Amino acid sequence: MTETTMHAPANGGASVTSGDNKPRPVTTLREWLDHLAARDRLAVIKPGTSLKFELAAIAKKLDGEKATLFPSPGGHAIPVLSGLVSDRQWIADAMGVNASELLARFQDAAANPLPWTEVTSAPVQEVVHRDVDLGKQLPLPVHNEHDNGEYITAGLCISRNPVTGVQNVSLHRLQVSGPNRLGVLLLPRHTHMFYEMAERAGQPLDVAIVVGVDPLTLLSSQAIAPIDFDELTIAGALHGAPLPVVKCVTSELRVPAEAEIVVEGRVLPKVRELEGPFGEFPQYYGERANRHVIEVTALTHRKDALFHTIVGGGLEHLLLGGIPREATLLAHLRRSFPNVRDVHLARGGVCRYHLYVQIAKRQEGEAKNIMMGAFAGHYDVKHVIVVDEDVDIHNPAEVEWAVSTRFQADRDLLIVPESQGSKLDPSTRNGVGAKMGMDATKPLDADEMKFKRIRVPGEDDVDVKKVIGAVPGSSWRKALNP
Ligand code: MN
Repeated sequence: MTETTMHAPANGGASVTSGDNKPRPVTTLREWLDHLAARDRLAVIKPGTSLKFELAAIAKKLDGEKATLFPSPGGHAIPVLSGLVSDRQWIADAMGVNASELLARFQDAAANPLPWTEVTSAPVQEVVHRDVDLGKQLPLPVHNEHDNGEYITAGLCISRNPVTGVQNVSLHRLQVSGPNRLGVLLLPRHTHMFYEMAERAGQPLDVAIVVGVDPLTLLSSQAIAPIDFDELTIAGALHGAPLPVVKCVTSELRVPAEAEIVVEGRVLPKVRELEGPFGEFPQYYGERANRHVIEVTALTHRKDALFHTIVGGGLEHLLLGGIPREATLLAHLRRSFPNVRDVHLARGGVCRYHLYVQIAKRQEGEAKNIMMGAFAGHYDVKHVIVVDEDVDIHNPAEVEWAVSTRFQADRDLLIVPESQGSKLDPSTRNGVGAKMGMDATKPLDADEMKFKRIRVPGEDDVDVKKVIGAVPGSSWRKALNP
């Protein structure tokens, strides 16, 4: 894609009306399935896959290669989908940009959000159940070995600030505890703050759980946005058109009109019940503990609804958290450090805990300031490695090389003890742990040859097909004595 597109206003980027062959953003889930299918990235599994383990096992086996669609899972009328965004390139495709422009596009959308537009009738309300029995009405899978039963894992949780009325979007694991009851893990961010405000007033907090949305709306939900910043407005900017929303049937919340399924309910004040264990993104089980409880008030869905499930710890789970965080952390760091070139949340650090930062170094010591900025950007950031421009931060072996040859622990290491970290990191004490930063940049005053990376002239230009001769390796003797 061209420079023009990168710097175009959010609602004009990658527009469908440009009349050329530029790809445009995908705005609905069904359109996305067509897109995946056309590229042989959608596997339709044989009907009747068991909802207990078998569905997750198949989805995980195909993770990163193909999205999976399960017709009549466990005999249920509603099909299940998984692995919708399990590759970085796929996410770029959904935005209609090259992979190298992915973060810039997301940043642009976050900087130029587009307010949603309200509609009065919506596909997601074609069917309305006020007498809800989740276990009967939805195909609910069980994923990991020790999960405490059925979970809704791909539900965007929409809530509202009780004071300002501004909506928030977040993803939470939801344990199906009864026909109209869900256990929910609320980590200490925006939804939790709204809940505390409601609970102090003795009130429940209305929530809507939205299942089955397009990949860009899903991605938007994971932006590290300030409080009172409605993440659905990022989805609109990524689509290049305001997101159509509809009012819930039992609350004032507005939900994406084109979604597949909405579970309406309220988080009850002063109520906690046992939730967990559940297989989480760090590849460990989130522990069983007393957690918040949602009482379901209605279930609405399309006539031919699809149910999306995210298998805990899969690539979809990791990337959905990683990409929006990378984009928002990069923007956050650049406000103070314009010489930050790129950031990457490495897969080995579960796309949350290990941040690689590439900089054009101008000043000794600044790598440590950048580390502190990154720790402040999100509490999940645990280890930060800062490298120079000649290191590819998307290649873990390159980053390790920089650490092995440019880092000295007595001089380049920063440790901050007893800080807020991720409660899902089992090595923390209930979310309290250390931060570590490593400055793996070259000293500015170093002799040029000392840190000059070796290079064979012409290496990058070798055309292997042209230089390998006709004699096969097994006949090497013959090649020497023709
Ligand atoms: Mn938020």
